[in-house]
Amino acid sequence: MSADENSDTPLGWLLKAQIRESGPIPVSAYMAACLQHPEFGYYVRRPAIGAEGDFITAPEISQIFGELLGLWCAAVWQQMGEPARLHLIELGPGRGALMADMLRSARLLPAFRRAIAVHLVESNATLVTLQKERLAAESAINWHRALPDVLSDGAVIVVANEFFDALPIAQYVLLDGAWRQRLVGLDAAGAFQFQNGDVTDVDWACPAVDGDVREVCEAVPTMMARFGEFSRTRDFAAVVIDYGSGDDLPGDTLQAVRRHHYTSPFAVPGESDLTTHVNFADLARAAHAQGLAVDGPTTQAEFLGALGIVQRGSRLMSANPDKAGSIEAGVARLLAPNGMGARFKAIGLRGRSVPPLPGLPQGTTEQDHT
Ligand code: SAH
Repeated sequence: MSADENSDTPLGWLLKAQIRESGPIPVSAYMAACLQHPEFGYYVRRPAIGAEGDFITAPEISQIFGELLGLWCAAVWQQMGEPARLHLIELGPGRGALMADMLRSARLLPAFRRAIAVHLVESNATLVTLQKERLAAESAINWHRALPDVLSDGAVIVVANEFFDALPIAQYVLLDGAWRQRLVGLDAAGAFQFQNGDVTDVDWACPAVDGDVREVCEAVPTMMARFGEFSRTRDFAAVVIDYGSGDDLPGDTLQAVRRHHYTSPFAVPGESDLTTHVNFADLARAAHAQGLAVDGPTTQAEFLGALGIVQRGSRLMSANPDKAGSIEAGVARLLAPNGMGARFKAIGLRGRSVPPLPGLPQGTTEQDHT
């Protein structure tokens, strides 16, 4: 049986018809359709996250994750001189757990909570409904389909957990010394298959051997340009947490997950979560190109450790002895050296007016990347 056996989803039919008519499409176009097609895209309507969804995320594992990020934001706000208005932007807020936990810990500093206007950037209508339920008791929450263009005066802090891994990437493959774009086409039996496009003029300084695949997330420079704009007119900081590597190595990292199991990216298009590993070196380069300073990346375990996850876990266990086992298990999972603790990285981005960000190794400079 081919991996493609189940690709007869409505989106699968549509893409195959399109390929039959107009030829193979870039991997980025395939991924964009699977994730964001207005009718059938995965991140348009599906519940995605949680036990009944396809995958689980850090804030769904432990409330401490969001609480610590809320306190991280409070510390950054203090470093910014406690501005009266702070736009707190979350990219891809999922079921709203992270923001709910962040805002709960924000209340420890009433002036901080009062300063916050929340902006949730979300493409998924089902998740927006869940976020509205989860955050019903909170004030000053705004929803956007994309990063807002216009914000009133005030500082900006952006938080993104498992957002960048869900953005489409283009793939290039090195064949006979030349990079070709990787495409999705059809085999003789009409099943999806990877194909190689024409030679392109892309080039990377890093060493590569024949057969290597490079991935390029086209949204990263665009997003960094927007961050750069913010940083030129106001205090700006961001923390991005995701799985991926700080080493700029080639590799095909496209993966599909459905109901907590890996599957082929060509099985059930639009009904499985397609992601890639985030290339943090690339992200840092794009941020530096916009004049931003970059702190980290470091592992999630190091970052959460520096923010006091172990101490917070112990306090929470003492206060809730009946839940001590699950609290401890949650913390252990976030810190696991063979799991999330090491596979996930945190990186900080900031305008030059903002001091180095808490919990992250200070400031790699542009020179490190040239
Ligand atoms: N941060 C959450 C959810 C991560 S899943 C958590 O940690 O639990 C990815 C989130 O990003 C989902 O909310 C998804 O709907 C959203 N998303 C994915 N692609 C998006 C896009 N292009 N624009 C806006 N939101 C997007």
